[in-house]
Amino acid sequence: MSLNSPLFSVIPEETVRVAKAAFPKGNRSLLLRDTFGPLFHHADFQHLFSHTGQPGEDPARLALMTILQFAERLSDVQAADAVRSRIDWKYLLALPLSDVGFDPSVLREFRTRLVDGNAEYLRFDTLLTQFREQKLLRARGRQRSDATHVLAAVRALNRLECVGSTLRHALNSLAVVAPDWLLTLKQPAWLERYEKRFEDERLPEAAAERTALATEVGRDGSSFLTAVIAADAPDWLRHIPAIETLRRVWLQNDTWTEQERLRWRTNEETPPAGQYISSPYDHDCRSSQQRGLTWIGYTVHVTASCDADLPHLMTNVATTMATTADDAVTEGMHQALKQRDLLPEIHLTDTGYIDAELRIASERRYQRDLLGPVRGDDHRQAKEGKGFAAADFLIDWEAQQVTCPAAKTSISWTPALDNRGSPVIKIKFSMKDCQVCIHREACTDGKRRSVTVRPQEQHEALQARRQRQQTPDFKRASAKRAGVEGTMSQRVRSGDVRHAR
Ligand code: SF4
Repeated sequence: MSLNSPLFSVIPEETVRVAKAAFPKGNRSLLLRDTFGPLFHHADFQHLFSHTGQPGEDPARLALMTILQFAERLSDVQAADAVRSRIDWKYLLALPLSDVGFDPSVLREFRTRLVDGNAEYLRFDTLLTQFREQKLLRARGRQRSDATHVLAAVRALNRLECVGSTLRHALNSLAVVAPDWLLTLKQPAWLERYEKRFEDERLPEAAAERTALATEVGRDGSSFLTAVIAADAPDWLRHIPAIETLRRVWLQNDTWTEQERLRWRTNEETPPAGQYISSPYDHDCRSSQQRGLTWIGYTVHVTASCDADLPHLMTNVATTMATTADDAVTEGMHQALKQRDLLPEIHLTDTGYIDAELRIASERRYQRDLLGPVRGDDHRQAKEGKGFAAADFLIDWEAQQVTCPAAKTSISWTPALDNRGSPVIKIKFSMKDCQVCIHREACTDGKRRSVTVRPQEQHEALQARRQRQQTPDFKRASAKRAGVEGTMSQRVRSGDVRHAR
């Protein structure tokens, strides 16, 4: 495909006449064209295409079509049919009535070109630029973010099904690309064991039988991998993606004893969910659990504008593994918005996206308010409102000493990392003071009180935000975040965003 195709800035007269007659009150496609014109220009996509070769479809048209196709959930064949047969599409794409469209494979090639050229965001960014030019979006306004789950397009497999399916997938891949080499392995038993889909088989229920089967599959996979990396095997075999997946899945499920015997790992010995491959058909999907929901797939984070006087438009979309914490996305979100010159004055989020470190970074780096409630103090004393919370202790940062409400001073000040790797300071009081203290029962469950705080700047930012989030003004402002659920609901209904394609 080249770019030697005509532009679509002018709609043929006959197309206009028939479309206006068919839709005297207009419809979505007509309105889109009349409001925004062609939306895309072939120059936007120029760098993705060769300037020589056969003239092809205008990429600006294809960009617009892929959006329509997505919005109406059409397959490539259905979308190509719509170009041929629908007058509202011909109007939007500025095609003559006689245009016969193109082969559906053109759409797939166009998407591949976008992905290969790292240009997945090109259409989105171009639209945002247009919206800004039309004054439908403003930088330094208000925006809000939220996330929802996305189910991967794979079956949920247990560990045994996953290893069996992975070996079957690797065997099938080699049966296509290296059938003669596969026959040299002379393993007729594998045909019987892996002919059918592993997840369709009735697996043994007894634990001992399941472990025996897992060990047998483990041995098969191990022999197969050994054969693939043997000196006499073709070198390129080991670079086949299904073989690399097999190697990784084997490492996460099998190990070797000191006697060099293969052993099925216990559940406790497998990698954490963030690293665990759940399916041979999708390496990036992960199993996660949140608010009572368990899913295998991804999380999509959506940011949308929410200025009262403007339409509410999406300004950023980020997809992560299902196990990625929300606050790991915040900085990337801000960078993406900055690149688009769309950083909001106030960014409304929920607790998951905020911690003291991120708040400070946001204010310092972008001079923006990351507005949302931070996590409360979840220690027993703060939650029950009994005894003394960390906020009741007086900290002398310079002297690195803390005074408790009973006027006793701490005896140790130890910088450490919490379980998320963030810096904290662990402070301890003297056992001698605490054991004779009249407040001891309310203050601590142990023999002495210890307090963990963030470094000074974060600690003070956290305390200030905890106080501020109790005020009516803060509650009123942050209540506006809830409206992002409407944006999310629209994405679910019109774009089926909760299912990976
Ligand atoms: S228990 Fe220890 S830390 Fe708590 S108030 Fe008494 S002396 Fe202070």
